Amino acid sequence: MQITFLGTGTSHGVPTIDCMLNDHVHCPNQVCLKAAFQPRYRRTRASILVQTKKLSLLIDTSQDFREQMLTNRVRHIDAVLYTHGHADHIYGLPDIRSYCYHQGEAINLYGSQETLETLHSAFHYIFEPPEFVGGGIPQVRTHLLETPTTLADIEIVPIPVEHGPLEGCQGYRLNDVAYIPDVKRIPPSSLTKLQGLDLLIINCLRHRPHGSHLSLEESLQYAYLLEPKRCLFTHMSHDIDYQVEESRLPSWIRFAYDGLCLCI
Ligand SMILES: [Zn+2]
Ligand SMILES: [Zn+2]
Ligand SMILES: [Zn+2]
Repeated sequence: MQITFLGTGTSHGVPTIDCMLNDHVHCPNQVCLKAAFQPRYRRTRASILVQTKKLSLLIDTSQDFREQMLTNRVRHIDAVLYTHGHADHIYGLPDIRSYCYHQGEAINLYGSQETLETLHSAFHYIFEPPEFVGGGIPQVRTHLLETPTTLADIEIVPIPVEHGPLEGCQGYRLNDVAYIPDVKRIPPSSLTKLQGLDLLIINCLRHRPHGSHLSLEESLQYAYLLEPKRCLFTHMSHDIDYQVEESRLPSWIRFAYDGLCLCI
């Protein structure tokens, strides 16, 4: 299984527009400024591509979908698993139309009931198309995914998690890899589904506590609790200076970055 990190940033991305507008006066550790010169500090909105011999699976269609597909030269998408319906995870969907045309068939989209409802209301023109729309409409098919299922050679287990007040947010376990980009708390019933992982990819927003996301300290607590062979943090804000933080972490815990590609 090959995993490509298409985007590893929080909803603002890094660098943020806010820091540019304020001349980086309030930017912690000047990470947004460093991003201009050091590509590993640039973080587009969170998404990964999971590829096996039989399947090319995208998790979320981020707001930076188009740029991510071009940068990583993604040739094929069989399906998309959605974690939840927040803007940074769904608003790349319109651009999936290029793959629908090229592949000549509808692309399957999976998610919780709440997430599918959000997709329907956010993209009314896709799911209930008017008679004519210039520019084209993606051909997609939605499927409820709230219980374990198998797609080709990947066993998929939805992992319900708490992400502030949002209902229906879930990470996914794909064979022995888990991806949970947006989370504040993992309930005990989901923790049991995360045992024996080769790789845990989990939210790490910033240093200070946040109502909907894990702080670095909380992310570390989950890493030590679940003890995967390897842990990568994602969905980071501009608070996180990976060069400073990684020197304090054990070697099995690292910060992911855009373009990171690994085989499990
Ligand atoms: Zn997010
Ligand atoms: Zn900044
Ligand atoms: Zn979110």
